[in-house]
Amino acid sequence: AKKSGGNRVEPFQPAFRMAVSDRLQLESDLRRAIERRELSMVYQPIVRLDDAEIAGFEALMRWDHPKRGNVPPSEFIQLAENSNFISELGLFALERATSDLSNWLIQTGDIPFFVSINVSSAQLVNSNLADDVRRVLNQAGCPASRIKLELTETVVMDNPEQSRLVLDKLHDIGVSLALDDFGAGYSSLGYLTRYPFDTIKIDKMLVNDQSDKRDVLLRSVISMAAEMGMTLVAEGIETEDDAEMLGQMGCHYGQSYHFGPPIGTDAVLKILKERFPL
Ligand code: C2E
Ligand code: CA
Ligand code: CA
Ligand code: CA
Repeated sequence: AKKSGGNRVEPFQPAFRMAVSDRLQLESDLRRAIERRELSMVYQPIVRLDDAEIAGFEALMRWDHPKRGNVPPSEFIQLAENSNFISELGLFALERATSDLSNWLIQTGDIPFFVSINVSSAQLVNSNLADDVRRVLNQAGCPASRIKLELTETVVMDNPEQSRLVLDKLHDIGVSLALDDFGAGYSSLGYLTRYPFDTIKIDKMLVNDQSDKRDVLLRSVISMAAEMGMTLVAEGIETEDDAEMLGQMGCHYGQSYHFGPPIGTDAVLKILKERFPL
């Protein structure tokens, strides 16, 4: 960002437009972000479309940089992926999200909801993801059935064979698997039969497509997936009309600012206690 004088906080500049020296600085900042407690997780509600009740939360990472403020995950996740420490961030997300989940379960008396956690390609390749997940669940004392792992088709496409092995293991452990950002990229339907996904998250680009063919496309994606017994989540729903239409088409859940933004752990606990009074 351009210096605008004074001591104003500079707006975050996307890493791809940064000078190399700035990017290297940011990279080394990110390496230390975990131990400096600058990383945290926030949770966005995933809501049932038929009765608007919360069914789960997606865990999303936040980085509060001491000088730059909130750096968007679209930037720092990419940075971490390119510089080989995404596995550490991934493990942080897994550990934090399962430990938060475990606390919520203890404090609410085991009420039914799930937490969905994003997984990057490097986690599938470099680490023993299935073992990590098993260990982290044990540590937190959470049943595998309470978590969902979200992977984009790019993650799967990057390592088709390795993905197959790891996803089968995860499926055996009993965690649920979601194909994220469906409809944003190539969306080869083959992924749905060759890998043990049980959930499809329809990307906000498809949900908010301006074309008059949108409804036809949504309806066929939803009925196809539903017929295969899959769970559907629509991302980025902006209007009540769309929520109602998607619900009528058979889409189970919605996740968007319309239903609620990502929130901190205390706010999650408050919501859960209101929804499931002891
Ligand atoms: P994603 O997995 O597709 O997550 C959904 C993103 O959409 C989140 O952005 C969320 O805040 C945003 N969103 C929610 N509702 C709406 C809406 O109504 N409209 C619009 N336009 N956006 C909405 P966020 O938190 O900035 O994360 C961006 C991406 O960064 C995520 O996209 C995911 O790919 C990645 N990411 C975030 N946290 C993690 C993580 O812990 N691990 C990994 N590997 N990736 C992460
Ligand atoms: Ca996601
Ligand atoms: Ca998504
Ligand atoms: Ca995305």
